[in-house]
Amino acid sequence: MKINGLKKRALWESIPCCCTKGDITKSYPLIKCDSCKFTECWKSVPQKDFIVNDDIIDKTGKVTKKQTKTVKEITLVRGSFEDVVAWIW
Ligand SMILES: [Zn+2]
Repeated sequence: MKINGLKKRALWESIPCCCTKGDITKSYPLIKCDSCKFTECWKSVPQKDFIVNDDIIDKTGKVTKKQTKTVKEITLVRGSFEDVVAWIW
């Protein structure tokens, strides 16, 4: 998997975690913790190639050929803290 837009250290990585370890009622997602939120977003980025449907459809939206393709390259979309808001291929 090739990932475009990688950074050695994104801005959000310097935001400290404000969760109370061992107390889920005082931890993300029950409290607002940007560090944990952005970590969760980062973990949603695929690290390995994956397969998606790539069916051929005609003008009426009918599938004329069923096929799949392997996604080997994605591009990260980053927010204002260089956090991952999306990834596209
Ligand atoms: Zn946290």
